[in-house]
Amino acid sequence: MFSPPDTIAECHNLVDNTARPASGPEKTVLSPYFGRPIARLAASTADDVAAVVQAAAKAVPAWRMRPLRERALILGRLRGLLAERADEVAQTAALESGKTEAEARAGLERGLEVVDFAMSLQAVELGGALDVSRGVRCEVRREPLGVVVGITPFNFPAMVPLWMMPLAVCTGNTFVLKPSDKVPMTANLLGHLAVLAGFPPGVFSIAHGDQRTVEALVDHPDVQAVAFVGSTPVAQSVYARAATQGKRALCLGGAKNHLIVAPDADPELTVRAVYDSFTGCAGQRCMAGSVLVTIGEASELVQRIVDLSQRCRLGEGIGALIDGQARERLFGAIERAQGEGARVLCDGRRLEPPEPYRGGYWLGPTVVDQVRPHMECATRELFGPILSIVRVDTLDEALALEQQSPYGNATSIFTQSGAVARRVAEQATSGMIGVNVGVPVPRDPFSFGGSKKSKFGQGDITGVSAVEFWTERKKVTSKWALQSDQSWIS
Ligand code: NAD
Repeated sequence: MFSPPDTIAECHNLVDNTARPASGPEKTVLSPYFGRPIARLAASTADDVAAVVQAAAKAVPAWRMRPLRERALILGRLRGLLAERADEVAQTAALESGKTEAEARAGLERGLEVVDFAMSLQAVELGGALDVSRGVRCEVRREPLGVVVGITPFNFPAMVPLWMMPLAVCTGNTFVLKPSDKVPMTANLLGHLAVLAGFPPGVFSIAHGDQRTVEALVDHPDVQAVAFVGSTPVAQSVYARAATQGKRALCLGGAKNHLIVAPDADPELTVRAVYDSFTGCAGQRCMAGSVLVTIGEASELVQRIVDLSQRCRLGEGIGALIDGQARERLFGAIERAQGEGARVLCDGRRLEPPEPYRGGYWLGPTVVDQVRPHMECATRELFGPILSIVRVDTLDEALALEQQSPYGNATSIFTQSGAVARRVAEQATSGMIGVNVGVPVPRDPFSFGGSKKSKFGQGDITGVSAVEFWTERKKVTSKWALQSDQSWIS
């Protein structure tokens, strides 16, 4: 069990490997566990952003000239420190995001996989060369873009920055992180460890802040590319802002993920996977299953999910919500679902956290049945541990529901039939499909990314696709001698 920290962390920007306070509006961060202050930060103004970007730009020429292997070795030292201090990173991330410590650790592990992939690039041919004519050779070089920016959400304080930074810097860019202003502490710990690992000044910088900070970063003429992960409306507006300035942008948004259960699904596996999917990280993850679509009779399966949900203990099996606003939003959504005619089978609002966590923001697993496809709880991203159950008779109906969703992050099918699984993989519209897997996160080198309103821009945020995002393909055509047999066709 956590105890509230005695001190309040001051979270400054990281510029040229030194802490520099930002000068915009100040904010106090409350721990979701306790509702008590744990950190303070100030938002970066346009001038603060200019200082961060200037330091990052200054670092570009030397950093991009270093061989990939050297950059990978420096990254490897950061990997070592992150692994060595994994407890500290996980506890910091949990304390400020509300995750359980195990979940925060799993997030870090997943981030480390991306670091591993980035380090492996030194062993992979990333370009290519070919004789395209007599004595003429074409070569593709991958060049870094320069200063690039990553804007990240609250729900994975270590993992999402680690989706971006390792690949961006390993490919020769310098990277500015704008972490969520709800979780500044883990970002600062990452920055601290990067300095200890020997990152040269300016290669990894941090600009704390809010909407204005993001806008100043996107608009800065020296910023070449913007990666964003967060909610759909912000993803869409950041993408539009960057794209109208001709900048490369990849902006991942929100989700409303469907878990489709066929009548032949393995009950043990399905019940556990559905429960873990909608309750993990208290439902505050873009891969959380939130609509359970059962095909045919499913009363027993639903009852078993309800039984598991009722046994959950706040602060042990499930972490906290990020803040009071989130709790209000989710309590309101449950009330409205009831108002629209849905039936609450398990009401997480009734659960009380243990004594030390009473001041925090909590909601236990909530299962809502008899949901109609048009209802808010079936269509809107709620971002909490609420499972909305829509019952249908056929796979066609289930697929139609999934296809109508404006979001397209993840969809899972639970079945023992290869034919059914294949049909869902072909016809579901999400970018990530699970077969008997409730949280179908692709692992490197496969890349992470959704479709429709869950992603704006081309490609994905990790894996091979991310290497494409963070680099420019430069084509060099060369000839070193006149060919004796040259004709007009050469
Ligand atoms: P958010 O959109 O509120 O914030 C994301 C980032 O944008 C933060 O750094 C925040 O400071 C900044 N920001 C907030 N409002 C802004 C504005 N108006 N203009 C510019 N920048 C702004 O998201 P959040 O609440 O921190 O995170 C939860 C959301 O992120 C959920 O919708 C979740 O589905 C999504 N998410 C998506 C993925 C994915 O891979 N698709 C992964 C994690 C989270």
